[in-house]
Amino acid sequence: MERGGIQKCDCGEWVVQRVAWTELNAGRRFFGCVNGRNGCNYFRWFDPPVCDNARGIICGLLRRIKEHENEIERLKAVHKNELQVLKRRSKWFKSVVFVVVFIFAYLML
Ligand SMILES: [Zn+2]
Repeated sequence: MERGGIQKCDCGEWVVQRVAWTELNAGRRFFGCVNGRNGCNYFRWFDPPVCDNARGIICGLLRRIKEHENEIERLKAVHKNELQVLKRRSKWFKSVVFVVVFIFAYLML
């Protein structure tokens, strides 16, 4: 059965459009079974093959995104440690302020 060029797979479900992110077909759209790898393995390309130039650009951009994601994770870990240090210092500072205020209040009496 077909609906506007979209078909049903062997599971009897409307196929879904997905995007391939492999090096060879980065960004290339295809139709597949809604049940994915657990389904009937229906597969049909929607887009024509990606030319070498576009494939190189897309793969380069994907590598840069991955590098930035790794840097974000590294910075999150660094700042997580810094945040814990600041929280400990803040707790210590609040304790000192409380003791000083308590001593002054005691001396004023
Ligand atoms: Zn299926």
